[in-house]
Amino acid sequence: MPPSGSLNIVVTGGAGFIGSHLCDRLVHKGHAVTCVDNLYTGRFDNVRPLSNHRNFRFVKADVREPLAIEGPVDRIYNLACPASPPHYQRDPIGTVKTCVLGAIHALELARTTGARILQASTSEVYGDPDIHPQPESYRGAVNPVGPRACYDEGKRCAEALFFDYRRVHGVSVKVARIFNTYGPRMLENDGRVISNFVVQALRNQPITLYGDGSQTRSFCYVEDLLDGLELLMESDDTVTGPLNLGNPREVTVKEIADMVLAQTGSRSRLAYHPLPQDDPRRRKPEITAAASALGWQPRIALEDGLRSTIDYFALKVATPTATAKH
Ligand code: NAD
Ligand code: UDP
Repeated sequence: MPPSGSLNIVVTGGAGFIGSHLCDRLVHKGHAVTCVDNLYTGRFDNVRPLSNHRNFRFVKADVREPLAIEGPVDRIYNLACPASPPHYQRDPIGTVKTCVLGAIHALELARTTGARILQASTSEVYGDPDIHPQPESYRGAVNPVGPRACYDEGKRCAEALFFDYRRVHGVSVKVARIFNTYGPRMLENDGRVISNFVVQALRNQPITLYGDGSQTRSFCYVEDLLDGLELLMESDDTVTGPLNLGNPREVTVKEIADMVLAQTGSRSRLAYHPLPQDDPRRRKPEITAAASALGWQPRIALEDGLRSTIDYFALKVATPTATAKH
């Protein structure tokens, strides 16, 4: 039994980048954490330091199957889903199933245990937006038949399921729309822009800029995101979201390349590649709703978060054995 005041918390996708940081934080706060992951893009190494902790258990399972969790459950963070375009597009049908069946199975667990449940949704529900910055009221511009649709539409359907479970079964739900998040523990071959650029710069390999680099994103450091996720989960039952969680500082992809090159002192050159189909041209969260409902705002400057991320990869990328892929 966890100490009194602590909760029984299930984290699906808990061996991934964000999920493993969340498991760390929850275990160290005294909660009993069950990490459910099929290790598709996650690594057991991410949670290995927790593996002998009495408040932590790892269950290797796929959320596309019903979740059999022993004992009481008070909270469920539903994070299981590959988040990087090359990984979610590698098995697009599998991605739709993870989003939709995974949501149903996590919601069923919430319904049968009475747990409160939070969905890791995404800024991708806005697609390639024609409203800028994106408020939660914007309904998005997703191409439903393009290569990103397996993720975007899967996540949109998951949001629908969350609100249907609330209306039909009275489940206590929370939906966070997470914008681009970065930090230590991203995979070397994750394929997302910050991990790619950092790994390439550390190896003095070409920096793979897609398009002309003028497209924008807004990058949130993982610890800031976790603050927002926890505040949302523990907020009053009337606060359901969807709430945008992200850092509103918008930068171009070329600016990110320049920052990474400057911080690493790399000799890498820029290598321009075609822009992937349906790549959103710009993205920036409107976060006034999260600020007013949760008193939340990100605090970690991009320069500082990049420094921590570079320090992490510098230890991993000591020898040039592999290339970051897209
Ligand atoms: P990640 O790929 O590092 O982690 C996802 C985890 O889910 C991995 O450990 C993977 O093995 C696991 N997983 C995938 N499919 C599964 C399945 N069928 N059954 C069980 N486990 C499965 O990605 P991340 O960046 O940590 O993202 C976590 C969540 O946050 C995802 O749901 C993602 O959509 C969402 N999100 C992330 C970002 C971001 O910028 N990182 C932005 C928006 C939303
Ligand atoms: N990108 C890039 N080079 C890379 C990886 C990504 O120029 O090696 C671009 C990508 O085309 C997109 C932006 O960086 O415009 C962010 O890509 P990422 O995959 O990190 O996130 P998402 O597109 O899902 O927001």
